[in-house]
Amino acid sequence: MGKFDVSALRYLESEHFRVLMALEMGMKNHEVVPLPLISSIAGLHRGATFRVLGDLLKNRLGSYERGRRYDGYRLTIRGYDYLSLRALRAREVVGSVGNQIGVGKESDIYIAGDSDKNDVVLKFHRLGRTSFRKIKEKRDYHKKRHYCSWLYLSRIAALKEFSFLEALYKRNFPVPKPIDACRHVVVMGLVDGLTLCHVDSLPNVGEMYDKLMALIVRLARYGVIHSDFNEFNIIVTHEGEPIMIDFPQMVSIDHENAEFYFNRDVQCVRDVFKRKFDFDCDEFPKFEEIERKHNLDVEVSASGFTKQMQLDLNQAYDKGQFEAHIEEGSSETDEEDEEEESDGDYDPEELEAIQEEAEEQKDALKQENRFTNWIESA
Ligand code: ADP
Ligand code: MG
Repeated sequence: MGKFDVSALRYLESEHFRVLMALEMGMKNHEVVPLPLISSIAGLHRGATFRVLGDLLKNRLGSYERGRRYDGYRLTIRGYDYLSLRALRAREVVGSVGNQIGVGKESDIYIAGDSDKNDVVLKFHRLGRTSFRKIKEKRDYHKKRHYCSWLYLSRIAALKEFSFLEALYKRNFPVPKPIDACRHVVVMGLVDGLTLCHVDSLPNVGEMYDKLMALIVRLARYGVIHSDFNEFNIIVTHEGEPIMIDFPQMVSIDHENAEFYFNRDVQCVRDVFKRKFDFDCDEFPKFEEIERKHNLDVEVSASGFTKQMQLDLNQAYDKGQFEAHIEEGSSETDEEDEEEESDGDYDPEELEAIQEEAEEQKDALKQENRFTNWIESA
């Protein structure tokens, strides 16, 4: 874990970001984005686009790939990070990026400074990172590419997390302060404390146990279950207050497996307290005793995080677990790949469709290009 590598930011001009954004847009519907589409969305000549792409490739912000039907370019995770950072910078939410403080299977966490040099946390969602690496082996990826792309999945994971953060924070739940979200990045306040997994002793173990169980119950009364309520997702502040983090896997209390998730959260707390503090308690919340009083789940889905996104996200999390299994085994899907060689070019009809789409996307691009070239002022 080190510093976030922003070295290339210095050399990039607005033209580079223009092409990077065109690449991002093209990837909404294309496994690899052909040069003419990029140049058309970016509104730059092909020659210029090609040259800029060369710079982006050198800086590993984009890659060149042989696709199934034609060759083209792809945005890398690093390229996506840069796009988010630039936008956050333009909004004056983030001034600088510092050290990495956490790494999970599906996220990277960095400390950053806001424009007044206060500490904030950047959570880069990496959902679909595994399938991104193994993309050529995934047939069904192409049938539903929009819903399976790592770009889309990591973006909706961030959107979900931020929506819940906001809703919970507004209700005075002990969560980090939500600051902003952009693409796959959530910006929130830094919690000063120790994750429960690093806490070896507590002044009052029973009191902490009660607080955590009360939190699980209060969430349920609001219609939601954290469903990953473990010692890595609870930070104990110096004042001894537990703050919960990590919300992309939250489920509604109406979820078909709600009782399972609820009991698992409760059991998790019991296990941690038994193991760490030798604390055993017969009293713990029961699912059937919960009386729902509010509809936070409904409110969040009304705030832009749609049902479809929820379905796609759940599927991705389930699939992530599945993939972890097969990766340990063999790579049995390789052979199918060979048949599908790229046949060089794409057909004129497709190019036409592509250009229409580019027209539609130009407005969105203009919007983002309003942001000035902050690198110059950096
Ligand atoms: P993951 O989905 O990878 O588990 P988390 O949101 O749980 O991501 O963050 C991973 C780790 O980063 C946490 O266990 C915690 O140590 C640290 N972390 C995350 N958010 C914050 C925050 N707002 N303040 C302080 N530390 C944080
Ligand atoms: Mg976590």
